Amino acid sequence: MIELVPNYYQQFKCKADKCRHTCCAGWEIDIDPDTLELYQNQGGQLGKELHENILTDGNTASFKLVGKEERCPFLNDNNLCRLILERGDEELLCDICHEHPRFYNYHDNMIEKGLGLACEEAARIVLGTREEFALIPSCPDTDEVPQYTETAYIQRDEDIKIMTDRSLPLSSRISKVCGPKKLDSVARAKLFSSLEILDPEWQIILEKLAECESHSVHIPPEICYENLIVYYLFRYPMFTGKYALECALLAHDICVSLDESYTLEEVVRRLSVEVEYSDINPGMLADKLGALR
Ligand code: SF4
Repeated sequence: MIELVPNYYQQFKCKADKCRHTCCAGWEIDIDPDTLELYQNQGGQLGKELHENILTDGNTASFKLVGKEERCPFLNDNNLCRLILERGDEELLCDICHEHPRFYNYHDNMIEKGLGLACEEAARIVLGTREEFALIPSCPDTDEVPQYTETAYIQRDEDIKIMTDRSLPLSSRISKVCGPKKLDSVARAKLFSSLEILDPEWQIILEKLAECESHSVHIPPEICYENLIVYYLFRYPMFTGKYALECALLAHDICVSLDESYTLEEVVRRLSVEVEYSDINPGMLADKLGALR
């Protein structure tokens, strides 16, 4: 089994208490069966607190979230995890806390591991990388050579190759990979509004955008947009460049059309939380766009 990661992957380090949007609040934190067993076998004060703060229905388990912000009960006032602080290591973290913000693609004897944009630090790295995107083995000593057999992955890699060919202007690369047709700004805002909405504030942003006069949005010739389109191509091998382009256009439009002066990093983080953390939204969006390979 060969594990591949983007060339920026090793730069990632959780910002912990420096993070403005901690991932330990605002959504359900599921506990996997092995970690649940570990928690059930803990003694002392920490064991008592663990027993008191887990919700389980026999099949699934999660932490009892606290307050309006739905914070993890083990997140302290400085936004640090008490399970790590008390143990000095990550042994007591459940799988989901270990893994966030990583995502995985599985293909034959390969695992692709990426950084998801729902994390502000991942968004900073993905958008800010200057080097062209490349997938590299996570273990540099491996002598295995990745070989894709599925057509969607082969096509996706072709698309990434074109998107990262900086001898061509970004607009030409986008036309080749994502096709010439795109929605107007209002139709795009309405399309994203028709998906499952997780955060009411996101709905407000989309409504404001839909109220703006309809206009044609163009991607600026900046590396951050190349990186963003490549991110979507990499993360979703089964979706065409149209999916990547419409997500990037929505993000750009929110940045330039609304008065709130959102940064691209902030918008793609919200977009990721809304679309990528819904079980149904990515597939529904690709389907509505006709972007399934
Ligand atoms: S969102 Fe990212 S940087 Fe922030 S606490 Fe979670 S993993 Fe760390």
